[in-house]
Amino acid sequence: LHFDIVITGGGMAGLSLAWRLSRSPLRDKKILLIDREPKDRNDRTWGFWEAGEGPFESVLSRQWSSVWFHGSGGFSAKLGLGPYRYKLLRGIDFYRFVRAELAACPSVEYCCSPILSITSSASVATVTTEKGVFTADWCFDSTYLLQAVRGGDISSHSQNLLQHFKGWVIRTKEPAFDTETPVMMDFRIPQLGECRFVYVLPYSATEALVEFTLFTEALLEESAYRQGLMDYIRNFTGIREFEIVEEEFGIIPMTDEKTYEQPSPRVIRIGTAGGYTRASTGYTFTRTQKRLQQLVANLSRNWEKPPVEGLPAPIPLRFRFYDQVFLNVFLQKRYAAAPVFTDLYRKNPAERIFRFLDEETGFPEDLRVLYSVAIWPFTVAAGAVLLRNISEKFKR
Ligand SMILES: Cc1cc2nc3c(=O)[nH]c(=O)nc-3n(C[C@H](O)[C@H](O)[C@H](O)COP(=O)(O)OP(=O)(O)OC[C@H]3O[C@@H](n4cnc5c(N)ncnc54)[C@H](O)[C@@H]3O)c2cc1C
Repeated sequence: LHFDIVITGGGMAGLSLAWRLSRSPLRDKKILLIDREPKDRNDRTWGFWEAGEGPFESVLSRQWSSVWFHGSGGFSAKLGLGPYRYKLLRGIDFYRFVRAELAACPSVEYCCSPILSITSSASVATVTTEKGVFTADWCFDSTYLLQAVRGGDISSHSQNLLQHFKGWVIRTKEPAFDTETPVMMDFRIPQLGECRFVYVLPYSATEALVEFTLFTEALLEESAYRQGLMDYIRNFTGIREFEIVEEEFGIIPMTDEKTYEQPSPRVIRIGTAGGYTRASTGYTFTRTQKRLQQLVANLSRNWEKPPVEGLPAPIPLRFRFYDQVFLNVFLQKRYAAAPVFTDLYRKNPAERIFRFLDEETGFPEDLRVLYSVAIWPFTVAAGAVLLRNISEKFKR
């Protein structure tokens, strides 16, 4: 069966792409969306910042104009976000919203099946699933897993951390959460020589998502995440009785592993698979929306040309270098994470950090951010990364 576009993976990037295509000049193209899951449960919750209204405004659970940051050395501050709002979007609300919008688009079909392989000749992509073989002019793939998450033989050049976290949506009988101000990062928990923090995103005064997050090389035992959440709730929220209404667990690759947006002529990788995840933070949502907008615009202009052609990389080189340095500092344990984040948010307005993390700062403003952190360990790390990159270039 031939389609104009097959989208492999109907998660955040795949559904966002289908939604954007359905609102573009390409709306009549025949599109097939394939996912092994029906995406009918709340498997994740996105927190992200945005200035002004975004495309999924109507299905946000909440948005805030200030956040709490609790750092090391007794530093705690309520940070105003300037033009930004910190937004909370539940996976299930996003999936339902996009599916409902696409229902009005007869050119979009679905297939719920595991994908077995994706190949491409010069003119056609072929996707093999358990339910059949599909061909397409273009395949947009969000199912490819980076080696950092797959494990196994990771290139000696890449620096790999995992951001892993367990979250509970908890409900209390009595009001227990400040609905006006979520906790974006709380580093007051024992760090155990690692990067560990908790965030608390309240849906209401009696219901919030509490997420225990780590940036480390290896995952914890299941019981350790549970303990981390219990300890935080007991020691920092004052809550004694609560009910767990939902659970989520996630792993996001924080890696400088090389990604390929166009691994073969007719396949374009999108989302985390396409290298849209910032290695130093794991944030992906906003960058995915920006990138897909560019891809749809390019494809609308010229159907035959690979839509990534002529575009700058999803994350500019300069920012990928900063992320490499950040990874190096933590992997080599050159400096503790909690004071790094504390310095960043103590010495800069949150909106500057957000702009920096969105790659929207110019070099002079980058320097202001970079000079906020301990200079010496970061300079040593920058030197080490430069040497790695140069030696890698000569090896090739
Ligand atoms: C729990 C969690 C919370 C996160 N929170 C945030 C956040 O707050 N802010 C932020 O910016 N980023 C966050 N991220 C990172 C990122 O935004 C998400 O991972 C996002 O979902 C990435 O979108 P994606 O489309 O690349 O991948 P996914 O949304 O994971 O979509 C990939 C899809 O492919 C399907 N699939 C995979 N393999 C196959 C196969 N072989 N056959 C068929 N289907 C397949 C999967 O079922 C899935 O639906 C979070 C990630 C996780 C895991």
